[in-house]
Amino acid sequence: MVRVDALPRDDSSPGWFHTSRMRQPKAPLIGDDKAPWVVIGGGFTGLAAARQLALNFPQDRVILVEAQQVGFGTSGRNAGFLIDVPHDIGAPDYIGDKTNAKNILHLNQRGQGILRDLVEQHNIVDAHLRHSGKYQAAIEDKGIAVLNAYRGGLEALGEKVELIEGNELKDHIGTSFYRKALYTPGTMLVQPSALVKGLADSLPENVTLYEDTVITAVDYGQQIVLHHPTGRITAGKLILGNNHFGQHFGFLENRMLPIFTYGSLTRPLTPAEQASIGGQEFWGVIPADPFGSTLRRTHDNRILVRNSFSFNPDGRSKDGYTDKVRVAHRLSFERRFPTLTDVPFEHTWGGGLGMTRNGAGFFGELRENVYGALACNGLGTVRGTATGTLLANMLAGKMEPLTEFLLAAPKPNWNPPQPALSIGVNFTLRTGQAKAGLEA
Ligand SMILES: Cc1cc2nc3c(=O)[nH]c(=O)nc-3n(C[C@H](O)[C@H](O)[C@H](O)COP(=O)(O)OP(=O)(O)OC[C@H]3O[C@@H](n4cnc5c(N)ncnc54)[C@H](O)[C@@H]3O)c2cc1C
Repeated sequence: MVRVDALPRDDSSPGWFHTSRMRQPKAPLIGDDKAPWVVIGGGFTGLAAARQLALNFPQDRVILVEAQQVGFGTSGRNAGFLIDVPHDIGAPDYIGDKTNAKNILHLNQRGQGILRDLVEQHNIVDAHLRHSGKYQAAIEDKGIAVLNAYRGGLEALGEKVELIEGNELKDHIGTSFYRKALYTPGTMLVQPSALVKGLADSLPENVTLYEDTVITAVDYGQQIVLHHPTGRITAGKLILGNNHFGQHFGFLENRMLPIFTYGSLTRPLTPAEQASIGGQEFWGVIPADPFGSTLRRTHDNRILVRNSFSFNPDGRSKDGYTDKVRVAHRLSFERRFPTLTDVPFEHTWGGGLGMTRNGAGFFGELRENVYGALACNGLGTVRGTATGTLLANMLAGKMEPLTEFLLAAPKPNWNPPQPALSIGVNFTLRTGQAKAGLEA
């Protein structure tokens, strides 16, 4: 038996969760159950895999198990960017190998298309999905150099880009803080918690979703037996869609890095405050430096700030850490919006990214009857949706060029053992954040 020695526990203050529709979560499983298909993880990846399995096998029951409530975990805690274009921070033009970049673009677009269609089909209006593009913005020389190089890479890939400079930027994003921004039109922005809640409530009828049900141990054999606090689930085939927690199910051990990043949401701006900043009414900014700040103006006129990282090896939130990062968020916010210094944050939270040292995710078979789409590497809204869907299609014998691409892609690298791992990761995070300068 494999004991799952790290179980999810996120902090209690995810802003998107609390400001979206309160729903009645599906009841936890009490006792035993059994199904040909069991999916673990009620985030973007698991929801997509469960839905597609149910559509591919309409005669079969699919059980989807989520340790917390849907919308409360990382899938409901992100900044809500559904990004199309690739951004390879290891390549000089941030694009690198063109064939690889095209595949990533198509994968992301596939995820975007699935989410857009589901929002329309199930009328998930409170997801506020808007095709608004994104601004990648910079203030430091290093950041400007990134934008110039990335522009060349994107143009070589045939993607539309627009450079916006100086004061002109204020008309777009309500701040003259940045020197330059690269606008790419393909990104969609969403209220991520409302979106995953809506996805959970529109699953096909042959999916049984158990929320607040944590899997604590697994027996692998001809049938797979999953243990939870009040009983067992017997599965014909198991699909792991639980991001970095997948490495505690006996696979890919020490290959993922649960790195947390943090968000804050202000209260809604008053009409006078909105007028004081100007700009468009709905936009999203990502930083040129990976250690910089993400910003959004939301559908309900709040400002979102996301920055700061911590390494939480057990994948759980660290007590008191949100108080610490709120100070950093405040500084970043007031630098960008000096007329809004009286506007308080209503929520500050963190969420775990399933990072890997080489940036590779895992897709495919883990052992007989066990499959996974794991390690979101920070952009799992669209990637998780696409990989969860493609995995379910592969299990139904439907192979596609993107499936072949994912199966052939590099797998996550090994991490060095502790304590060297924590020392190394903490050093990288600390120096990265210090070097980000004003981008943070
Ligand atoms: C602050 C922040 C900002 C971000 N911004 C963006 C962004 O703008 N765009 C973007 O694409 N990505 C962003 N991300 C990353 C994105 O949220 C993740 O890539 C995405 O959530 C991954 O989805 P997933 O379904 O693979 O995994 P998760 O969302 O991590 O879902 C896995 C689920 O598995 C459950 N689980 C784990 N173990 C068990 C168990 N033993 N039993 C039962 N259930 C279990 C967990 O509770 C969890 O809900 C951001 C993340 C954060 C924290």
